[in-house]
Amino acid sequence: MTESFKSTCCYCGVGCGIVVHKEKNGSLRVEGDPHHPVNKGMLCSKGMNLHYTVMDTSDRLLYPEIRYSRHQPRQRVSWDDALERTAAVFKTIIKKYGPDSVAFYASGQCLTEEYYVINKLIKGFIGSNNIDTNSRLCMSSAVVGYKMALGEDSVPISYDDIELADCILVAGANPAWCHPILWRRVEAARAANPHLKIIVSDPRKTQTCSLANVHLQLNPGTDVVLHHAIGRCLIEAGQVDHDFIQHHAEGFEKYQYTVFERSIAEAAVICGVEEADIRLAASYIGKAKGFITMWTMGLNQSVIGVNKNLSLINLNLITGHIGKPGSGPFSLTGQPNAMGGREVGGLSNLLPAHRDLLNPAHRAEVEAFWGGGKIAPAPGLTATEMFEALNDGRLKAIWILCTNPLVSLPDARLAEEGLKKAKFVVVQDISNRPETIPYADVVLPAAAWAEKEGTMTNSERRISYLQKVVDAPGEALPDAAIICRFAQKMGYAGFDYKNFGEIYQEHAALTAGTRIDISDLNYDILKEKRSVQWPYSKQINGHGTPRLFADKQFYTPSRKAIIHSFPDNNESEMPDDDFPLILTTGRIRDQWHTLSKTGKVNKLTQHIAEAFLEIHPDDAARRQIRDQEVVVINSRRGEVRVKARLTTDIKPGVVFLPMHWGKVLNSDLNRANNLTNNLVDPKSKEPDFKFSAVQVQRYQKP
Ligand code: SF4
Repeated sequence: MTESFKSTCCYCGVGCGIVVHKEKNGSLRVEGDPHHPVNKGMLCSKGMNLHYTVMDTSDRLLYPEIRYSRHQPRQRVSWDDALERTAAVFKTIIKKYGPDSVAFYASGQCLTEEYYVINKLIKGFIGSNNIDTNSRLCMSSAVVGYKMALGEDSVPISYDDIELADCILVAGANPAWCHPILWRRVEAARAANPHLKIIVSDPRKTQTCSLANVHLQLNPGTDVVLHHAIGRCLIEAGQVDHDFIQHHAEGFEKYQYTVFERSIAEAAVICGVEEADIRLAASYIGKAKGFITMWTMGLNQSVIGVNKNLSLINLNLITGHIGKPGSGPFSLTGQPNAMGGREVGGLSNLLPAHRDLLNPAHRAEVEAFWGGGKIAPAPGLTATEMFEALNDGRLKAIWILCTNPLVSLPDARLAEEGLKKAKFVVVQDISNRPETIPYADVVLPAAAWAEKEGTMTNSERRISYLQKVVDAPGEALPDAAIICRFAQKMGYAGFDYKNFGEIYQEHAALTAGTRIDISDLNYDILKEKRSVQWPYSKQINGHGTPRLFADKQFYTPSRKAIIHSFPDNNESEMPDDDFPLILTTGRIRDQWHTLSKTGKVNKLTQHIAEAFLEIHPDDAARRQIRDQEVVVINSRRGEVRVKARLTTDIKPGVVFLPMHWGKVLNSDLNRANNLTNNLVDPKSKEPDFKFSAVQVQRYQKP
């Protein structure tokens, strides 16, 4: 007999609902859930092949392992031995060097329950805020942008607003490849409404541009200049919402002064786009009754990521396009549960339920709730800071779970040096990937998607429950179970949950009275309703809250949204004679992060099987580079060797590398992050993945 289980896709932040069918012989197949409000039965290529991630156990970690000395191989041990030794080492290090000498580095792919217990363990019991995740690398600039403009990290809109918009500005994103089902909803909206205008701003002509009325192919790093120029056009044309600006926003006068400092013609030259195209884009926005701004990494992953976010959100604010149907700023999350991590406060500068770590009253509330020790008042180390601190000796031990930093962090060789210098490294993962695992003193096998239950929150604040479908192979355990067992070995109370539902209810209870209140929510309700959008209240709204700020009351002290003003300059590593090209990195359609799941699915590797460099034919001709020829790319940090793809889809002076590949046949010369730099946005601490100075040459055999 076939059993069927409802779950959620574990790849991108779209959060598609799926049904997993388990046959009598144990084999699995997946289909889109026709009743799920996100995808209505649709799945993209990654989602359709999701079952292979748990059916193929060939590279799975099956047992805990310990390496007793760095010169010996790891050996299989029991869970008790692995966790007791880890607890003993952590206690010794903390006693000698203090709680800030240890850190946890986790992932936006962790379930909310997992995020919750890790955060509770280190902040509430160990006494350090050294918990950060790879979400720092993808959406922390959006978190800061929302907080500064709206008073709190609050995505205001729903996917259903897409069908109600008549203008969408997609900035620094390629949702046609990276959020495919969401983009199919945009395509369907265009088919139903030929007047829907789509503006894309991106230095590359991506698949998303095929639907664009205007593609603003801007120079990397000039997004603020572009957004300010559009703002100026709107003001000049009288297409701003004066009533909204007067009653519900502050900062317009200074903004007006700032955007009038540059002419549109000057902005067009800096951005490398036609002045007429800026004016055309502004006219689409100015005439729209519903206007959505949609963005991801092109804005977030920047040394000025927060300013890029704010300058885009400003376009919604000056036109009053927020809190009403078909309108609002909408940052897409890259990972499936980056939003859940934000809910539990799973970054080094956050507290649960969007409380503020720097606020003593908020810390006291959480301390009283957890019943552990004092929460440290200063933010902990962020993702890149952790690896810098391993290098300079401030950090002695790191526990890495559900992420592969030696592929995904910028300046990967610096991160690698950090792991070599660490006194103690724990890696908790599902598969035996060749990059980070070799540095582990303790390896802990984790259960994968479909081998555990829990919850995730997608880009539109929609919380979904994931059913367990199959048992994990070997002795692998769910991540939350591993963390709770470790906490108990450390001697901490409050981690003896009977099941994962209890963890969820504790997290939900901690949200009571906050703006993300889900204190009424539990697994039973989620199983019955399939999904709800926070905030949720049994009495007020049976399916949660699709749209925020309908009352135009923002979460700032004045209850007004803030229109921020700032200079439009970019602080990235500028090209020079030695490194004259700008490298931007990103994703391809059928791969996910560092290939640990998608990389073993043949159907997905057929799309693009190996790393490549996109380069404009003019830049290639200057270097006598032919299409498909191997090239050497150098930056001040390192080297990559891949085949060149000549294309006019990229601007002259700019080259593109996909970020997925790490070690291939023992060579790390496919790893894009050999080249990237560790500059970060000063407020969000998000790295500048989209802008590094490089040189490209033909590869010549020695
Ligand atoms: Fe999964 Fe994202 Fe594809 Fe939906 S769009 S099936 S969530 S990868």
